[in-house]
Amino acid sequence: MQTNPAFGAHLQPFAGIPSFMRQPATRELEGVDVVIIGIPYDGGTSHRSGARFGPRKIREASLMLWGYHHTQQVAPLEVLRVVDYGDIEVSPVDIEATNTAITNEVSTVLKSGAQVISLGGDHSIALPLLRAHAAQHGPLAVMHFDSHCDTGSPEFAGRPYSHGTPFRYAIQEGLIDTSAYLQIGIRGPSSRATYRSDAQALGARVITIDEAFEISIPNVIKEIHARVGARRVYVSLDIDAADPAYAPGTGTPEVGGFTSYQLLQLVRGLAGLDLIGFDLVEVSPPYDHGDITAILAANLAFEFLALLARKKVGNTSP
Ligand code: MN
Ligand code: MN
Repeated sequence: MQTNPAFGAHLQPFAGIPSFMRQPATRELEGVDVVIIGIPYDGGTSHRSGARFGPRKIREASLMLWGYHHTQQVAPLEVLRVVDYGDIEVSPVDIEATNTAITNEVSTVLKSGAQVISLGGDHSIALPLLRAHAAQHGPLAVMHFDSHCDTGSPEFAGRPYSHGTPFRYAIQEGLIDTSAYLQIGIRGPSSRATYRSDAQALGARVITIDEAFEISIPNVIKEIHARVGARRVYVSLDIDAADPAYAPGTGTPEVGGFTSYQLLQLVRGLAGLDLIGFDLVEVSPPYDHGDITAILAANLAFEFLALLARKKVGNTSP
């Protein structure tokens, strides 16, 4: 691949224009394996907004990532042709127009044969992303890491769409194969006693943080593989799955969550699955401290790249 000097690896991490990991900023998709897309939308937030600033900050944090992944034994940028597509043109005051823009733009990318890693943005963007991916692949297994179920009451603020409801609508629209839909890391107080059982009634396998720690991370990974099998998998990772001590920069933090390392373990455990798309949401830089959350998010995006690289080289166990 030709290296564009404006994004070249010869630059120091603090210099230049911060495309994701210095990959070419382009919408030319010929021969491209993976597209990084920013979705700077936070109008679906129920409490503290600010995730619209997530994509830019994650890109900045990504400049500190070196190329080789020791656990997965792969250099993603040598195996995959990755580009930074830039950001989707969202409307900060119109969630439905934003959803349409996301589905249309991402569908265009998917039709080119590239896979997408989306950087949010609040979790409402998962619905239009799932619409685009399911249109391409059919109903999907979904690994949903979060402290919240996001299958909530559609009446929030008198409107159906928000960051608390994307998976309810995705299920109702038939985008998710609920026999392989797992919510992992669920915790915290909720508005009503049926919050979790409502998710279960929709078909979700809800693995609370208590159960995850009780059965241990390796057994969570075993259950993921057992449920997913050969299905195509979409991964949606809400950074508030991590404990706020590890990810303070988020809108609706819930204490008592995964450490950074436990989240890395969980994501690495997805190796071997037929992974077809990823989003990483709810990074809110105005609430961050010392870029802790943005750095974790950039590393999680690198984990996603490593998974896709391992999938491409056909090496499912390191
Ligand atoms: Mn959440
Ligand atoms: Mn969420």
